Amino acid sequence: MKLRYKIILSLILITAFSFYSFQTKSNLSISNPKFYQTENVIVLIIDGPRFSETFGDSTHENIPHLFKEIAPAGVLFHNFKNNGTTTTVSGHTAITTGNYQNLKNNGLDFPRNPSFFQYFLKKTNLTKDQAWIISSKGKLNILSNAKTKKWKDTYSPMSYCGIKGSGVSYENDNTTWIDVKRILANYHPKLMLINLLEVDVRAHENDWKGYIKALKNTDEKAFELFNLINTDNHYKGKTTLIITNDHGRHLNGHKNGFVNHGDKCEGCKHIYCIGIGPDFKKNYKSNTNYELIDISKTISELLYFDMPTSKGKIMTELFLDSK
Ligand SMILES: [Zn+2]
Ligand SMILES: [Zn+2]
Ligand SMILES: [Zn+2]
Repeated sequence: MKLRYKIILSLILITAFSFYSFQTKSNLSISNPKFYQTENVIVLIIDGPRFSETFGDSTHENIPHLFKEIAPAGVLFHNFKNNGTTTTVSGHTAITTGNYQNLKNNGLDFPRNPSFFQYFLKKTNLTKDQAWIISSKGKLNILSNAKTKKWKDTYSPMSYCGIKGSGVSYENDNTTWIDVKRILANYHPKLMLINLLEVDVRAHENDWKGYIKALKNTDEKAFELFNLINTDNHYKGKTTLIITNDHGRHLNGHKNGFVNHGDKCEGCKHIYCIGIGPDFKKNYKSNTNYELIDISKTISELLYFDMPTSKGKIMTELFLDSK
């Protein structure tokens, strides 16, 4: 009898132990994902410079800080593209949703798909003031919502776009910049998108000098943001900064050249992207063909949320452990 009890007891113990170790293993694989230092992501979009006046110009005279200080602190993608509609609303939508969609450019049309802001807020359950869209162009407040039923009016980030954040008209970048600093200081958002319009607006006015001046002004602001992230106690060492454009402009000799954009010419499609952060390589240049929709997947990887509706891919070459 005793032996039989011993056998039964052993069987129970073995079963219990196997079950326990199975549980522990499966728990481990869930609670032990890849470890990134990044806790915050800020995306700065300088609206509409042509590559030939930024990194495609060997003198880099219009972007001294981006060239000398900012890009060397991270990874610069030389062959970055908007492969969809090369307008402001569609370009920004490609960035936030990971989908190319041909949207009306007047701010009355919402993206079909949810943005990385919505996925992030849903996953983290943080208050909406931890995610912000701040834009000189009022119409970009459409980025805070999605048309699809499942996501409409849910997990929307805060948005402060246009004159006094009203979502209409255009605010000048200097005023927008005051709001950027105010919101960074007051809310310490974990996820933020900033749009600066001056380059695009001066070019549309056919003002070449103004366009070049605007490139330099936005370069200054990019440097100010870069320095703020590197010195602010809340952001230092745990923030990824992505700087890119929504589209370029027509090549010289094509239609009205730098004045406009919106088609599939190389000038409109070709932009740059810079990624700087604790999980990214430093002083690294890449010719890999990444594109606007890839930014969303890269952010979802860094901040540990899934983004199944994004058609982009993770920009693996950014990461320290990649080749
Ligand atoms: Zn634009
Ligand atoms: Zn434009
Ligand atoms: Zn074009």
